[in-house]
Amino acid sequence: MFERRFLPVVVVALVALLVLVTGLWAVDSNRQSTTEVDSSGQPRQIVHNWKLVTTWPKNLPGLGTAPENFARYVNEMSAGRMQVRVFGAGEIVPAFEVFDAVSQGAAEVGHGASYYWKGKIPASVFFTAVPFGMTAQEMNGWLHYGGGLELWQELYAPFGVIPFAGGSSGVQMAGWFNRELKTTQDLVGLKMRIPGLAGEVFDAAGGTAVRIAGGEVYTSMQTGVIDAVEWVGPYNDRTLGLNEVAEFYYYPGWHEPGALLEFTVNAKAFAKLTPDLQAIVRAAARAANQDMLDEFTARNNESLQQLLQAGTKLRPLPEDILALLYEKSLVAMAKLRAADPRAEKIAQSYDAFATNVRAYHEISERAYLNARDKVLPPVIPKPVD
Ligand code: CA
Repeated sequence: MFERRFLPVVVVALVALLVLVTGLWAVDSNRQSTTEVDSSGQPRQIVHNWKLVTTWPKNLPGLGTAPENFARYVNEMSAGRMQVRVFGAGEIVPAFEVFDAVSQGAAEVGHGASYYWKGKIPASVFFTAVPFGMTAQEMNGWLHYGGGLELWQELYAPFGVIPFAGGSSGVQMAGWFNRELKTTQDLVGLKMRIPGLAGEVFDAAGGTAVRIAGGEVYTSMQTGVIDAVEWVGPYNDRTLGLNEVAEFYYYPGWHEPGALLEFTVNAKAFAKLTPDLQAIVRAAARAANQDMLDEFTARNNESLQQLLQAGTKLRPLPEDILALLYEKSLVAMAKLRAADPRAEKIAQSYDAFATNVRAYHEISERAYLNARDKVLPPVIPKPVD
């Protein structure tokens, strides 16, 4: 016969059992979110297999190192819970279809340059390069502390794509030319591979801008499809052998003062990741972004010296040509802002940040470099004729 004096003990025992069962269920359901069951009924860890498509040939030194780094960082930091595999241009999709592939989910992540998509998204040019705009250091400041990244994410949101900074080459070279530029007239009729807003500027200055992916610039120069090409700078240009197809190498890169690349992530694929894996993706992109500038900084001058020794003729762009390009840049920018409210909104943020940061850089970066040049021996490479 059940004795009433045992009732409290039974109630306590039942409550304890309920707590235990609820706890076990919670632990199990939590595990369910990060594991799945294999064919033999054993739990196993979910591995997110991501394809990364790039606009560069596979393993291209410099630009192509960033996607490899991103993949390696994600694979290592996630301890195998994510596996990112890199595919070069043309392996899954051609270079200029990378954005669409990520947008449509054919690949989970892409690496390229936002200005390649200016036909579809005119305001995307701000996130690669603005002629006479911000340097790499300034761009990173704007993106990560000046609201730039939020504007970029807003711009890509309708396409189901999340952008992250994907590396910077620093100030680029103005490019390779198969003839010497002495006056603005020398630009007339010149066919040049030069993308982004700078392409429109070049057209307005009398030339013809041509859109060509990195894997094809050498052949295009060699076969005379173009007369000039801007690619990146000494380290990357030497890798592509551009010194073999053009004699004159001009500076500075007025058109790409801090050319920034991008990682583009499919928003749905990103949403499927647990918060820790999302943090890993963000951190991997940020690390790969910084690494590229570090590598170009370390390697550019050595490559430049090798190019000069091999006979490349180094030239500064004449001042009247730079002045014309600046004048045409103002026109191209005004046109872009008038035609697209999104461009106008981004331009306001870009301009405000650039003006502010420039004021400080006058008395920091520039003042210091000037002071250093006054006391140290000159290092500018002598032109080789
Ligand atoms: Ca470039």
